Amino acid sequence: MTPAFSICVYCGSRPGERPEFTSVAQAVGHWIGERGGQLVYGGGRTGLMGTVAESTRVAGGRVVGIIPKALVDKELANPLCDELHVVDTMHERKAMMGERADAFIALPGGIGTFEELFEIWTWRQLGYHDKPVGILNVEGYYGALLEFLAHSVREGFMGEWQMGLIRAGDDAPTLLEALVEEAGRHPRGDKLAEVL
Ligand code: AMP
Repeated sequence: MTPAFSICVYCGSRPGERPEFTSVAQAVGHWIGERGGQLVYGGGRTGLMGTVAESTRVAGGRVVGIIPKALVDKELANPLCDELHVVDTMHERKAMMGERADAFIALPGGIGTFEELFEIWTWRQLGYHDKPVGILNVEGYYGALLEFLAHSVREGFMGEWQMGLIRAGDDAPTLLEALVEEAGRHPRGDKLAEVL
């Protein structure tokens, strides 16, 4: 059965210090699964990544994991994925995640998460795709980053329109709904396969 939507979740390969991070990862997985959606993610079993994948499956969703071969052992490639792609490089992973999803959401994470979030955002500003991108600001985790981004706009290194290409929110269902709704309004077509 074709999934109702396909959403890529970027998040930590660690669980973080607060139980709320794990709770929100579970809530995101449940939200996706309960609506018959598909999760696209990094394919590991560790940290919040593993939690989102497990919760999506438990709730009946489809899970697509994409992992570079060099990380199969380190991030514990998840055999429970409905599709597990072991790819040659990190670039391939990120391009495939970009192609397979209709929308993107970043949960708390570390530099891998930041890098993925910024990359998909810059791809949107370049017109490589026009799919929605969200930042889930759980427990104020991304507050300092959002403040810094506003600072960058004030200092003239970013335009308001670039901020308009991402949505930030602190409530998982509200943000997920907005992203999936926005994805449904846009044609899925993207140029990622051509340009990357
Ligand atoms: P982290 O947020 O650092 O725990 O990483 C979350 C995920 O991002 C992991 O699956 C990393 O493999 C992945 N990731 C993606 N791009 C990079 C990169 N350039 N450097 C490090 N990790 C990355």
